[in-house]
Amino acid sequence: MLVLTYHSISDSGGPTSIPPSVFGMQMAALAAAGYRSQTLAEFIEWHAGQGDEGEDRRVLITFDDAFADFAEAAVPTLQQHGFSGLVFVPTQRLGLPESWDGANQPARPLMDWETVRRLAGEGMEFGGHSRTHADLTRLDPAAREDEIAGCAADLSERIGKPVESFAAPYGRVSSVVLDAIRRHYRVAFGTRLAIARREDDRADLPRIEMHYFRNRRTWSRFLDGQRGYFRIRQGLRAVRAMAGGRIG
Ligand SMILES: [Zn+2]
Repeated sequence: MLVLTYHSISDSGGPTSIPPSVFGMQMAALAAAGYRSQTLAEFIEWHAGQGDEGEDRRVLITFDDAFADFAEAAVPTLQQHGFSGLVFVPTQRLGLPESWDGANQPARPLMDWETVRRLAGEGMEFGGHSRTHADLTRLDPAAREDEIAGCAADLSERIGKPVESFAAPYGRVSSVVLDAIRRHYRVAFGTRLAIARREDDRADLPRIEMHYFRNRRTWSRFLDGQRGYFRIRQGLRAVRAMAGGRIG
């Protein structure tokens, strides 16, 4: 199944901002190619399923960091196509501008809790992205547990439902981080660039970074199963990951 990664939907520039017009093109191409957006529950059911991968042309659309432009620029487009979105929230940074390592200049504002609650009522979904957007691999055990478990506690208290999904900031994980994630969440998504498969670790599921698909023809070809460009990107990204590159 395709799991797409977005951050900001804006003209802010940089690899983690997709302009609204490009986002609109990407969503329209998905709809035109017959893709159906999945809820987290549908994704979990698929991942836990038996046998072959099942019906293709399914997509889970995720957004890291809970930028305010999700509400303004992404939600109307998602709703226009009958799609839903899953947003990973650094719970103690809501209502503030991004201020972590690698933040854009000028900083982009995050949603506030009122907006998160309203969108949860409209069918958008929310998962954890730590409390403070920390690199979880650099924390002592107590701080690590606080960032991972505390984030789910913050979110479920505010939106009134259990929180079952997580994305580690920067995709930075280690065996102890993955163990903690497994204890507190059903599934978690990372930054490995691949199509998700049932055999993938439920605590470190791969996604498709949409920064690579700003071109309409390249995206439509990918959706139709022509994956040459994608394999090149996979190779380059694997090299960069080994060199310690970090994104969103
Ligand atoms: Zn992030």
